[in-house]
Formats: sequence, structure tokens, C-alpha cells
Amino acid sequence: MSNPFFEPWRTPFGIPPFDSIKDEHYLEAFNEAFAEHNAEILKIAENQAPATFENTVEALERSAALLRKVGGVFFNMSSAHTNDVIQNIQMEIAPKFAAHQGQLFNNQKLFSRVSAIYSQKEEAGLAEDQQQLLEETYTSFVRAGAALTENKREEVQQLDEELAGLRTRFGQNILKDTNSFELVLDATEDTRGLPESVLKAALGEGDQRGKPGQYVFTISRSSITPFLQYAENRELREKIYKAYTQCANNDNEYNNHKVLKKIAALRARRAQLLGFESHARYMLDDRMAKTPEAVTELLDKIWEPAKIKVNEEASDLQDRIQEDGGNFSLASWDWWYYTEKIRSERFSLDPAEVKPFFELGKVRDGAFAVATRLYGITFEEAVGIRSYHPDVITYEVKDADGSLIGLFLVDYFMRPSKRGGAWMSKFRGQSNLDESVRPIVVNCCNFPKADPCLLGMDEVRTLFHEFGHGLHGLLSQVRYESQSGTNVKQDFVELPSQIMEHWAMEPEVLRSYARHYETGEVIPDGIIEKLLEAETFNQGFATTEYLAASYLDMAWHGLESTDEQDVESFEADAMQQIELLDAVNPRYKSSYFQHIFAGDNYSAGYYAYIWAEVLDADGFEAFKENGIFDAPTAKSFRENVLERGGTADPMMLYRQFRGRDPEVAPLLKNRGLAD
Ligand SMILES: [Zn+2]
Repeated sequence: MSNPFFEPWRTPFGIPPFDSIKDEHYLEAFNEAFAEHNAEILKIAENQAPATFENTVEALERSAALLRKVGGVFFNMSSAHTNDVIQNIQMEIAPKFAAHQGQLFNNQKLFSRVSAIYSQKEEAGLAEDQQQLLEETYTSFVRAGAALTENKREEVQQLDEELAGLRTRFGQNILKDTNSFELVLDATEDTRGLPESVLKAALGEGDQRGKPGQYVFTISRSSITPFLQYAENRELREKIYKAYTQCANNDNEYNNHKVLKKIAALRARRAQLLGFESHARYMLDDRMAKTPEAVTELLDKIWEPAKIKVNEEASDLQDRIQEDGGNFSLASWDWWYYTEKIRSERFSLDPAEVKPFFELGKVRDGAFAVATRLYGITFEEAVGIRSYHPDVITYEVKDADGSLIGLFLVDYFMRPSKRGGAWMSKFRGQSNLDESVRPIVVNCCNFPKADPCLLGMDEVRTLFHEFGHGLHGLLSQVRYESQSGTNVKQDFVELPSQIMEHWAMEPEVLRSYARHYETGEVIPDGIIEKLLEAETFNQGFATTEYLAASYLDMAWHGLESTDEQDVESFEADAMQQIELLDAVNPRYKSSYFQHIFAGDNYSAGYYAYIWAEVLDADGFEAFKENGIFDAPTAKSFRENVLERGGTADPMMLYRQFRGRDPEVAPLLKNRGLAD
């Protein structure tokens, strides 16, 4: 049987031939890819010639082409369009992947070659990106345990494999438990307060789930959020909210408590073997922030003003409940509902009045137009390119001079085969080693499918956010793929995405893209004013729930004990320490905290969003000072940040763009936490 992964792809732009890739091709291709990579590594490690940057570090960079080819398709599919077969392969492949990585970094001959080059890095005459690549390569070996004794190395490798399996299980449990809950209402039941657009989306969900004519709400965020905002029936709000906060913590096979306490314990053990007191210390050593103390210092700086604000908000909500004749104390499932009431009264912004100005296609084109004005790049729908799902639209992205930048795929609609959330990913990264390789980048969101698809402001922001990551991937101009685009220190990666959100809300930009989907009318100034006022509204809550999740993350990964903890009491302790209000939960509770337990990257790293927000708020100030489409400022951001990927120290790149260190004040001001 032929396997498309073993053939060159003669498709336009070398996009994966999705039509001919079948689920049964993956395992065979992965196995072959591992074998091929092993042979390449053997050759590099056993080379009789003295170790040089070219014959070792650069040779490693060139290796694993097939693995990137298969993985590039498979891992996108397992997130964006999965099924039982793919999930099983994922379970099987995750530990193999970890074992393969482990073997590479445990190869002592290879490590001694890398060490030899590293010890003479000053004399090697390397360019800046090469020095960085050498540094990263050497550090990767050390962080994986290559400098340890054999026994300890083996234990680290075992831990890595076990952790990989647990992380996959954690994510799958959430998906399965999320899909297993539904709140079904028929027209006669209590749908009071729910706007028509929300009901329409719920009908669509009902159709997808074989319940035509019924309104189905789920605990995915785009379904539960409008329900909590508008549903008048308090009992139903409580029911769905509790289902949400109990996700993957139910009395069934998808319970994540066992999984996550094991992950935390094994991570602590691994960190200790590698010479760090905790997983947090180990992870942060390789980040812009460097230490848990630096993270906590930043969180505390924002926590205090946030706490004052959230208490004010809670008492406003309680007043509003009383006004309504409610005789109960504010609970967490009331927060969205009464917040929405105050919001609509104070800013008298009826979402039904606003949403028609934010039709998906117009918002997307608005984001594209911002990139065109800033960087001169253009987006043209590529006809005749088959992607992996009919909902995906593919664009050819070109530079001002007409040269090809890359392909950009947008996959915006929610479906049961897609995991929750929104993300940017790539089928191929940019590089320029032996030839120029242009990137294939994808943006995934989970907007409820409707025609027209009218977005809420959070969804508008999400679209711009992921688009910012997309630009980071697309505009990359580096030599080595491992340094391209979003392959940067994890607490730096949200700068390009979060800074894009600022343009979405600029009046000048709103007037160009926010046009009524039926009449084409430009969004009225009155609405813009209210939207901007609303920006700082409820920020005490938003900041608090986010920071609480960050503290929870730091607590789990600051553990210096390798004993398994009781999840409920550990979580309660962590929240008590920061004196979190009863009516607020952390944005994610442990059992469904995907960021930190379904992957490694955001473990002891959830703080990174606000770390990056310091940068994006301060960075956007540069645009505001000079004009939001100021050409030299945009050029500097493109050249110093977007094009550079991970080729240099992020703080240095930021300073080159900004001319100084980042400051916290613009963030506090933007969130309404300071004057
Ligand atoms: Zn992001």
C-alpha cells in the first residue's frame, strides 16, 4: 500500500495532500520517521571528523524531515479534526515520541560533540542566530538530563514517557467529559432571556447532536458564556456552571484528579533529578522571566489593585441583585448574568445591536486590512487548494513587492471533532537553510457555526489574537526552522498576538471593518464610545480569575514534594492564600486546566499571558505615541520582533524595538486598575 507521507507532495505550495492522507497512514509513517531520524542521528554521532557547528548542530537541524512532515499533519488533525482512530494513535504515539526525544538527548556521543562545540563557542566564529542555536541545543541536552549519571538519565527518560502519556490522557478526558454533558431545552422550557442569536446557535448544536428542533447548550466556552450572561433561570445557570466547574471531575472514567496529581508529583521528581527544587524553577530557568520569584513579583503587583476592583464589582452586583428583588448572595453562576445587566444599563449596549456590526467575514477582512496597512502584505483566497475540512479557507499571503510570504488557513467554526479554545498552529514552519521554505500557518477558533456568523467582542479579540500569532509565523525571516516564528521563549510568544488586539478596538480601525452585515452601515460613534468605556468594565473580575489560575499553576509547580496531593484541598489552600472571593473561581480549575496539564509548555507558564501583556501594552504605547499605523514603528516591530523568531534574547529584541525596558503602568491603565 502506498503512503502519501513517503512521496514528495506535488500539491500547490506543497500543502499536505489531505484527500489522500488516511488515518491508517499515520502509524506506519511515524514508525518510518523515527527509524529514519535514528539513522541520521547515528551518522552525526558516529562521525569520525572533529565536531563542528556544521557537522553536528546544523546537521541535527536538517534531520527529522519526515518526522516533521508526518507530525505537522497529525498533530494538527488531532486538535482540529480528530476521531477515535486518531485519538488511539495519539495515545500510542505520545509515549513513543517522548521516548524518541529522550533517546536523542541521552545519546552521550552526540552530547559530547555538542559539548565540545559549546566549550569553544567563542572561537567558532558563529553568527548571532548560530550562537543562539548552539546555546539552545546545548541547553536542551542538559535540561533533558544528558549531563547526569546513567541511572538518573534513565529515570528522567522514564518520567518523560510516563508524563507524555498522562498529559494526553488529561486532554482527552476533558474532551470526552465536555462532550458528554448537554443541557437540552425545548421551546416550551425555560429559554427566557436568551437572545435569538444564542438560541439559533443552540439549535445548530442540537442539529449536530441529532436533536433537531431542540436547544442544546454545552460546557464549551462559546456555548456556556452566553448562557450564563442571559439565561434568566437561576437554577439552570447553576446547573450548567456546576457542570463546567466539575468538568473531568465527575464520578466516571474521565476524572482527571488522579491524572493531574500524578503529573504534578512526577514533574517535581523530574525537576529534582535535573538539579532544580521544583518544576517551576526548572521551567522558568529557560524563560524570559527566569525565576518563580520574578513571576510572583509581577502577579502580586497586579493582584493588589485587582482585588480592590473585584470587591467593588461584587458589591455592585449584590446591589443589582437586591434591586431585582433577589434575596440571595452573589454566587459564581450569577456573575456573568448581573454583570451583563449592569453593562447593558450602564453602557446601554444591547449585544443584539452591536453584533450585526461584527460579522465574521468582515472582522477577518478587517484584521487582514490592519496587516496590510502596517506591513504592506496582502491576503488573497487561494482557489483550488483542498484543505482538511470544508469550513477551512486558505489564503495566499504576499509581501508588498508581490513575493510569496506563505499560506494562511483559517478554520473558525466549532465542531465535535475539534478541541475547545483557539490557537495558531502550522503545517510547515519557515526556514532558509538550503532553500527558502515558506510557512503554512493555520488559525483555529470555535465560533458557533451560523449564517451570518455574528461575533461578540471577546470573539473579535480572539480572532485578532490568533491572527497576531499567525503573522509571527508568516513574517518569520530566519535561517533555522527551530527558531522560526512562534518558536520563542514561552513568555514572549504572546506579545505579537496580544498587541494585535489593540488595533481591533481602535476607533479608526473599527470604523473601517465594523460594518452592518446587512446594510453596510459604519458602526456609529455612540457604540464605539460605549465599547471603549466597556473595556475597563468587569476588569477586576477578569484580572482576578486569570491571576487566580496563574497562582494555582505556580502552586502546583512550586511543589518541592514528590508526594501526590489531594486535589480539592490543595486547590482550596492555594486560593485561600491569595484570599480569593467566594463568588470567583480561577479561570480554570485543576481538573480542566489544559494549559498546564495537557501540555508542558504552559506549566508554570500560565502567567505568560500577563507577562506578555506588560509587553504588548507598553509596546502598543509606542504606536500610540507615533500613530497607530506609523510606518517606521511598524517596520521596527516587524524587523525586531516578528521576523526574528527565536534567534536572539527576547528582552534584547524588545529593547531594540522599544528603545528601553518594558513598563507595567500601561497595563494597569488599560485594565482600569490605575488612573
Ligand atoms: Zn495566544
